[in-house]
Amino acid sequence: MQDTEYHGRGGPLSVEDKRWWSPLLPAFLNAGRELGYKVIDPNGPEQTGFSVADMTQHGGERSGVSEGYLKRATQRPNLHVVSKAHVTKIIFDKNKRATGVRFLHRGKIRTVSARREVVLSAGAVGSPQLLMVSGVGPAEHLTQHNIPVIADVPGVGENLQDHPSIFGLTFTVKQGSGTDILQLANPVNVKDYIRNRRGPLTSPTAVEGNAWSVNESGEDDPQWPDLQYLFMSGTPFSDWGIYIVDVLGFRRDFFNEYFGSLLGSLGFNIGPMLTRPKSRGTIRLQSSDPQRPPLIDPNFLSHPDDVKTFVRGIKFVLAIGNTSSLRVDHEAKFHDKHLPGCERERYGTDDYWSCYTRQMAQTTYHPCCTLKMAPSSDPLAVVDHRLRMRAVSGVRVVDASIMPDIVSGNLNAPVIMVGEKAADIIKEDWGQGS
Ligand SMILES: Cc1cc2nc3c(=O)[nH]c(=O)nc-3n(C[C@H](O)[C@H](O)[C@H](O)COP(=O)(O)OP(=O)(O)OC[C@H]3O[C@@H](n4cnc5c(N)ncnc54)[C@H](O)[C@@H]3O)c2cc1C
Repeated sequence: MQDTEYHGRGGPLSVEDKRWWSPLLPAFLNAGRELGYKVIDPNGPEQTGFSVADMTQHGGERSGVSEGYLKRATQRPNLHVVSKAHVTKIIFDKNKRATGVRFLHRGKIRTVSARREVVLSAGAVGSPQLLMVSGVGPAEHLTQHNIPVIADVPGVGENLQDHPSIFGLTFTVKQGSGTDILQLANPVNVKDYIRNRRGPLTSPTAVEGNAWSVNESGEDDPQWPDLQYLFMSGTPFSDWGIYIVDVLGFRRDFFNEYFGSLLGSLGFNIGPMLTRPKSRGTIRLQSSDPQRPPLIDPNFLSHPDDVKTFVRGIKFVLAIGNTSSLRVDHEAKFHDKHLPGCERERYGTDDYWSCYTRQMAQTTYHPCCTLKMAPSSDPLAVVDHRLRMRAVSGVRVVDASIMPDIVSGNLNAPVIMVGEKAADIIKEDWGQGS
């Protein structure tokens, strides 16, 4: 379902409707209707409602920036791509101007010079790390790691944001209703995919649908949701603990205790996700060695409002599961085992769900905002409105790290938009036609 006014046509980023869905997806949409919500286009004008997840796909195949942008540009004489290279340093001259980058490739250190500028796009974790190992960041922190300070920029690595979500609010369903993940790759489905680009292999069962509830915080417009709900027609235990448990990062002993009785059962999971969290984390160095991973501290739930919002979200998840569309038609039953670690709280109270939140909240892999775009009056400002670093010259940042605050939708398309805008700005700034 696509609102034509809000969707472009013929652009490089292909968005398609799902080609396959489990029997639970229509039930999820009906559950929304029962709760008084409309079925909406998630990329349309209305922000509250229930929806089928849009896919970044083309002709039933996964699409993305590689297909949409890079492959189209491979013939250009001014494009040279080096894969499996690790940038270890941005090189600055004595005027704090970036003159190139150093990188490691096939065991050799190489240097590439920039005639005009360096565009930094290593993501919200990699970009601040690279700046810090190159001498641009909070001076005290750099000095701790014996890195000569080129520019003291306190905002580098600050302001880390993400959309935390809870994966574990799980319902079992009757036989025939759920998706048997182990059956997805059976020969019939593989054949259907290869021949027709149809069937379950065209679809990430991970998130089949989404919902956004009315904002009840009292702080914002009720139609500007602070919670998104990820509807998955699979559960952490539907593959008998073979694979999903590790993808989600559950400890095995915890997984066995909490989900062990349900191994192999079919069901669904609804994950509440904060769209505008208030907690802020950091990216810091553990070493001046650019090849050692940095320290990522998401600092989730450090703001008490985030826990309260999650508790509201959990109650809405339970309400969705309790609609007749799911409870009666599919015999949905919430997995109400007392969560290990929350034994001291009485089951079902707000304190219990707060504890549940603290045990179960995790990343949705949307890190951003660690090189904040802001006016120079902001002590954490790193880049200006044309994505140029303020404290040094010759570096433009083009990735999720420049967002001042996390966008409330998922990040992939907004980051691509940042790239599109950057391309226009760069051409303007260097007097190149579009
Ligand atoms: C598992 C997962 C699932 C996601 N699902 C969704 C989704 O369903 N919908 C959605 O909208 N968004 C989703 N996202 C989020 C989305 O993919 C990211 O927000 C987006 O890709 C961020 O773009 P970026 O350019 O800022 O960083 P990235 O895409 O991370 O690009 C940064 C690149 O820089 C490279 N790099 C880093 N350091 C160096 C270095 N020193 N030298 C050389 N290269 C370096 C990295 O390898 C990476 O290729 C998901 C993310 C993950 C991880």
